[in-house]
Amino acid sequence: MKKVIVATCNEDKMKEIREILAGDGIEYVSLNDENLSDIPIIENGSTFEENAIIKAKTISEVTKSMVIADDSGLEVDYMDKAPGIYSARFLGEDTPYTVKNNYIIDQLKSAKGSERSARFVCVMACVFPDGKVITTRGIVEGRIAYEEKGNNGFGYDPVFYLPDRGCTTAQLPPEEKNLISHRGNALRAMYERLKGEKIL
Ligand code: IMP
Repeated sequence: MKKVIVATCNEDKMKEIREILAGDGIEYVSLNDENLSDIPIIENGSTFEENAIIKAKTISEVTKSMVIADDSGLEVDYMDKAPGIYSARFLGEDTPYTVKNNYIIDQLKSAKGSERSARFVCVMACVFPDGKVITTRGIVEGRIAYEEKGNNGFGYDPVFYLPDRGCTTAQLPPEEKNLISHRGNALRAMYERLKGEKIL
């Protein structure tokens, strides 16, 4: 079975990636699985694209193999698109998400209706040993909820409200989140690109 390294230590993301690409006959392994989690990745890009490429390139240079990576985050329009590329580090890497989520709810206490617009963004990068790079981008639009709801997903899911569905992404069953999510969209686009170029 072909093995593809995904440059992440985030097992929540890994779970979604494996679910989204289930059945394609490829084994997706994380940095933890490959004992590569100690390799320092200096995520100092200023866009999701730059950071996704930095992650994939750092690991591809060490392993001399094709590596995919994602960089993702939440953009809240009322907060000038924060936390954006700083979503994981927002208010501190180890701060519980319920604190981060309630901080955002509090920042938006005067915001009504469309002023609460937000989106999840995901950029997937695939870097090859010869330096070739492919990127794809996925987005899901929503609003910041008035309170946290739901126990599925991770991170900011409990405050990310989908007006069409009438619930947060944390209230969706995982397979339904994957069908509409930023990560699902970016990953399916990457899969099609790699298939189209006969790389997978
Ligand atoms: P990254 O690992 O540097 O790409 O940081 C991504 C961060 O964005 C995560 O740690 C979460 O805080 C947030 N995030 C990305 N995707 C999701 C999602 O699907 N649900 C909830 N939060 C997400």
